[in-house]
Amino acid sequence: MTLSKPEQSRLVVIHGPMFAGKSTEIVRRVGEARTRGAHVLVVKPERDTRYAADAVVTHAGERIEAANARVAADILPLVAREVPQPALVVIDEIHFFASDAVAPIHALLARGISVVVAGCDIDHFGEIFAPFDALLPRADERVHKQGVCARCGAPSTHSERLVPATDRIIIGGAAEFIATCAACFRPSRR
Ligand SMILES: [Zn+2]
Repeated sequence: MTLSKPEQSRLVVIHGPMFAGKSTEIVRRVGEARTRGAHVLVVKPERDTRYAADAVVTHAGERIEAANARVAADILPLVAREVPQPALVVIDEIHFFASDAVAPIHALLARGISVVVAGCDIDHFGEIFAPFDALLPRADERVHKQGVCARCGAPSTHSERLVPATDRIIIGGAAEFIATCAACFRPSRR
């Protein structure tokens, strides 16, 4: 897929493991954009109900309102019902939508709407999580968030599943996952 977009729209990709501050980065950027007077729509997957059904909530407890998208195809209709049209659409936990997220993101950029996405770029098998394979090369700005490896204290890059699971997408928090560096990471087995 080729990406053609007006000069004024930008794609920002925030990526990294769990517990690295990705949602905090989103909350900060939404606050900055709204301070500038931009109309911002925040979208999150409906399945991610760990903390709230209608908000992006950081592990530290900060929250901003968010519209729920059950599937990636819900994103454009959610944008269309906004008045005025958003200048910025922010999508958290984008890996829940996998490759289905790419087309709506490109459609928004083509309309001159900037997009900020955030999510886990490596799954608990240790493989690149779609849609980051498609989005990272096309991003105008890449923000690689890292936390601290739970085993050795080095910068974290991976999200390790502590309880065995074969599904790629698992909703979980501190009880089910730790973040580790690449050297300490123990991938889930299929
Ligand atoms: Zn480590």
